[in-house]
Amino acid sequence: MASRADAAMSHKRMPGARESRWLRPELQGLPTYGVAVVSPSRYAGPTYKLSSNESPFAPNEKIVAAITQAARSANLYPEMFGENLAGTLAAHYGLPADRVAVAGGSLVLLQQAVQAVASPGEEVLFGWRSYEAYPIIAQTARCQTVTVPLREHRLELQRLSEHVNAATRVVIVCSPNNPTSTDISSDTLEAFLEELPPTCLVILDEAYREFSTDATVPDGLRLQDRFDQLLVLRTFSKAYSLAGVRIGWCAGHPDIIRALRRVALPFTVSSLAQAAAVAAITEDTRTGQEHTATLVQERSRVSASLREVGFEVPASQTNFLWLPLGDRAESFAEKCGTAGVSVRCFKGEGVRITIGAATANDRVVDVAQSFALGTRARSSARHHEYQGNKETR
Ligand SMILES: *Cc1c(COP(=O)(O)O)cnc(C)c1O
Repeated sequence: MASRADAAMSHKRMPGARESRWLRPELQGLPTYGVAVVSPSRYAGPTYKLSSNESPFAPNEKIVAAITQAARSANLYPEMFGENLAGTLAAHYGLPADRVAVAGGSLVLLQQAVQAVASPGEEVLFGWRSYEAYPIIAQTARCQTVTVPLREHRLELQRLSEHVNAATRVVIVCSPNNPTSTDISSDTLEAFLEELPPTCLVILDEAYREFSTDATVPDGLRLQDRFDQLLVLRTFSKAYSLAGVRIGWCAGHPDIIRALRRVALPFTVSSLAQAAAVAAITEDTRTGQEHTATLVQERSRVSASLREVGFEVPASQTNFLWLPLGDRAESFAEKCGTAGVSVRCFKGEGVRITIGAATANDRVVDVAQSFALGTRARSSARHHEYQGNKETR
């Protein structure tokens, strides 16, 4: 374990056998997204989905009204590149309009960026464990993925920079990180960017940035004018309660923004999604902020309750918690499932649980309490593992 954790892992594709005569052989080694969901089973009462980091709050009525209004013109194609939305975002965040692009989810932008920047065989570098979609996107683009293990559930940019070489075209930094919930500091990110070869694109995935309360967490939008090679991803899926609408955006150098538009398929952002996002920015910032604040409060409450019964809970800057349970991850996830709560289980590593409405979170705390008691009763030899519940920062 320790020696493996010290080396960067290069995921080479297995040559040879094909999964099917139709498919490219490298598809065989592709990880599958979403396999780790443990669903509620045989639970009679209300169940809760805490496995996809969705908001428990429905979008505000003004947003629903904007979608309805847009639906009246659904016979027409939308704006090709969501120019109105891009302009609205640029004005809202004080960015030049040619630095903003939108797409049907921030993941689409990530895929477009990798396609536009990295040729087959070139390297895409990121910390691991991180977001499951990264290796899928990189490998589908025939790139070599290079991953650097986290330390203490945290991405260390210094270690990442040790693996940058002439073949590195893209570095993906997820901050705060999914699924470990931890942040990096803006200082270390800035130092990292200053050292990097100027030809290497850094994609800063800030899907959870709105939930960050630590003042040291980077704000990629504010670093835009200092670092040309920084592409910042933001999404309406999490803090804006619009996951089902599929809308995300990015800020970056105009050359990159133009390139994203060149590789984009035309008209893939619906007029309904564009209208929803414009309304979310211009009409509804207050309820959105209140919902975010509520979830942040719940995050503190649940973290404290879990630590109280002995769980290690890394300080979260997101709308979810990471429980690094190691080989107990599966049994805990199953306990959640039996109690009517679906969670993400990373076998042998940990469990990721979304912060939901208070009733759902209470259920999680109940499960955790009985799990902790059961474990204590069963094995005193393992009891000491529960002592490492101090804040890591
Ligand atoms: C949820 C999430 C996204 C959002 O993707 P969308 O395509 O915008 O819904 C992006 N990155 C990470 C790390 C996420 O967890």
